[in-house]
Amino acid sequence: MIRRFFLFLSTQGGIRRWMETSPISKKLTHRFVAGETLEEGLAVCTELQQESILSTLDNLGENVTSLGEAAASRDAYLEALARIAERGLPSTVSFKLTQFGLDLSEDACLENVRQLAAKAKANHSGVEIDMESSDYTDRTLRMAERVAAEFGCVRAVIQAYLFRSAGDIDRLNRLAIPVRLCKGAYNEPPAIAFAEKRDVDRNYLALMKTLLDKGTYPAIATHDERIIGEAFRYVRERRIGQDKFEFQMLYGIRRDLQRRIVDLGYRLRLYVPYGTAWYPYFMRRLAERPANALFLARNLFR
Ligand SMILES: Cc1cc2nc3c(=O)[nH]c(=O)nc-3n(C[C@H](O)[C@H](O)[C@H](O)COP(=O)(O)OP(=O)(O)OC[C@H]3O[C@@H](n4cnc5c(N)ncnc54)[C@H](O)[C@@H]3O)c2cc1C
Repeated sequence: MIRRFFLFLSTQGGIRRWMETSPISKKLTHRFVAGETLEEGLAVCTELQQESILSTLDNLGENVTSLGEAAASRDAYLEALARIAERGLPSTVSFKLTQFGLDLSEDACLENVRQLAAKAKANHSGVEIDMESSDYTDRTLRMAERVAAEFGCVRAVIQAYLFRSAGDIDRLNRLAIPVRLCKGAYNEPPAIAFAEKRDVDRNYLALMKTLLDKGTYPAIATHDERIIGEAFRYVRERRIGQDKFEFQMLYGIRRDLQRRIVDLGYRLRLYVPYGTAWYPYFMRRLAERPANALFLARNLFR
């Protein structure tokens, strides 16, 4: 119920504009967002590198309303890739197709993604195409497959809460496209998605094992200690090398668990968001754990 309320709020443009320009914005977001600028995002990636943690930079933004805005997002990402290469960071970039104009023109969006993938390939980096709500699943996977066929260096994202995901993973595995497996962060109807957490978790475990057995360098993206423990057990049992997959987690969440993963010798990549368009990302983080709202409220009044 509370989760759905925060997810509903995340889609409200009026509140979004007010919040993003509010003077308390930095105070609210610093736990989950690296900062407003690319420089601040890169500084976090540099610190992570020193702790043997890989990163993927996300220039926050989604659902642009003009192709000019989409081109500006693309350029911001091209700049990010250039700066990642200059600093020799072990970083990829993550973005949403609606940030690159998917709602306005699939062709223009494709061209934006192609430019980014070409640059990532030239720089020995990679692009990770975040998965948005189910309105976009087919188009996102189509785009990921198309760009992966041309450039490689593309990671697709699959959400364990969707009934369709086992089929999508089988296809991506056959195409040797790396997958980031997450539980899923949007409000989806019960006709297409598991509503109960225990069903999502059960499906996650099954999909994770398929990816570890048959996938191409999959990313296990979760903060769920039980699932991570099961991944440790499974890879030991199957003698799957630590260089055959990676864990992924979000900046600012479960730092204790992040350290444990790295200390055990596994690869970990943190998703590092930066930028001023933080509202929808931030509200999804509150939806995942409503107790965060209390924590933030206490911080604000401190
Ligand atoms: C690297 C990465 C990339 C992602 N990309 C996408 C994407 O492209 N599309 C998409 O739909 N979703 C994405 N997600 C979000 C994902 O779908 C989940 O909503 C999110 O990860 C929470 O689920 P969980 O697996 O951590 O499990 P949960 O069962 O939700 O949480 C397990 C435990 O993790 C901790 N935790 C989880 N979330 C929070 C939080 N917000 N604050 C504090 N503690 C928390 C708590 O201790 C909780 O008990 C991504 C997640 C990660 C880690």
